Amino acid sequence: MGEVESRGNKKHASLLADSLSLLLKITNGDYMTDNKLMNEPDPQWQQRYCLSCHSPMNYNLSLCEVCAPWTLPEKTQNPEARGGLEQITMIEFLNDDNYQDLILRGMPDNDDSWRVLISSIITLAVGGSESPLHEQFLNDTDELLNHITRMQDRINEYTDKLSRNENLALSYYSHFVDLDVSHILDDDSDHIVQFEIKNQSVIFRVFRLKGGNVPSHAYRFPKPTTLYSDYYAEIVSINGYNVSFDYKDLEGCAEMIIMLDICNKDIDEKVEFLNRKYCEIIDNLHSHQMLSYESLRFLPNSVAILTEIDGIINGKYGDLVRDLLLCSLYVFENWKWVQNVRDSPRTRSFQFLRRIVSDLESKVVPYGKGLEVTSITGNCYQVCRLYPRTEQSLPQVFWTVLDVGIDDNVCLEVEKEHGLPMGDILGVIILSLYDDLESSQLLHTLNI
Ligand SMILES: [Zn+2]
Repeated sequence: MGEVESRGNKKHASLLADSLSLLLKITNGDYMTDNKLMNEPDPQWQQRYCLSCHSPMNYNLSLCEVCAPWTLPEKTQNPEARGGLEQITMIEFLNDDNYQDLILRGMPDNDDSWRVLISSIITLAVGGSESPLHEQFLNDTDELLNHITRMQDRINEYTDKLSRNENLALSYYSHFVDLDVSHILDDDSDHIVQFEIKNQSVIFRVFRLKGGNVPSHAYRFPKPTTLYSDYYAEIVSINGYNVSFDYKDLEGCAEMIIMLDICNKDIDEKVEFLNRKYCEIIDNLHSHQMLSYESLRFLPNSVAILTEIDGIINGKYGDLVRDLLLCSLYVFENWKWVQNVRDSPRTRSFQFLRRIVSDLESKVVPYGKGLEVTSITGNCYQVCRLYPRTEQSLPQVFWTVLDVGIDDNVCLEVEKEHGLPMGDILGVIILSLYDDLESSQLLHTLNI
């Protein structure tokens, strides 16, 4: 860039800073919290608010059309809004200090973390220790999770040894050119783990993964694993009876042990009962339509904890507990962009941007990838989102400006942009493009 242009940019930037502070004075903050100044929503929709700028919208999406391109981390569809809430809005959930621990927890990935999430929600909403239902759930699942952990430990310990031995054998013979692994390693049928839990004798078999898929009911080893190869474990028998679960072997076996502790017979019937119960609850949860496809992929494995989730969705603990569960899952699934809208200065900056878009009426319109500006002199510019190359890094310049008339990019920089929230920078860019007659005297790349 030439020296003249460089100086031009500096003047331009200070002009922009003036226009920014003027606008902030004019708008004196009132509109920041008063959504009524924005467009009134269509009453046929349940009231929706953009999660980025909090303005009302008349469509069933999470972000308004001004905010969406600048809030989503990549070119993805504007997500649907969280529906079915009775007691709180998503905005309240995201901004209430009480819920910050829930928000940062992340999607539960096993039965133990599901139990912790459920328990935290109930404690927040209805005071956990005062709810007999919650107490009962904690008691019921305490033993279950203990059994699961004990079995995991036994199987993990066995497999760790097995993995070391196999790795040693393989490395010893590795200089043989035509090495047939099956000649060196034992057959999988020999890899039996047997242990007792609460006087019930349990047998699992460990398999080394040789291509192909792991059966869906098998136990897979937790990541990151220290094992040399991939292994999985399948249940063989309980008290000498061969059993097979339609859901997960580990959780099924733990639930069986609890049932057998009460009545130590009819193993086949009990397995069938658990398998049927599991299918019923999964069908129920799919039919609620409140849980998204993504949430359904991360459901817990045990019948006991699935039953509790089903109960919560059906209002067992009231509307607030159900709302908090639905909001939490929504946040976990959409974390990539939801984390962007939890910052108050950013929210205010997008309220500022929306105000500019609203004031300039037809001269600034959202067009999917960003905003299209028709200037005082009749030029048309498109301010388009430049997406970050990696998830972590927001590029210093997150926009491009196209002069539609000459189909060429305009070099437009905002000095001292560092630290300014995104919406403020965009507001400044929109204002200077709109008033391009004035800006062009200072910014030579604008084509006037
Ligand atoms: Zn918005």
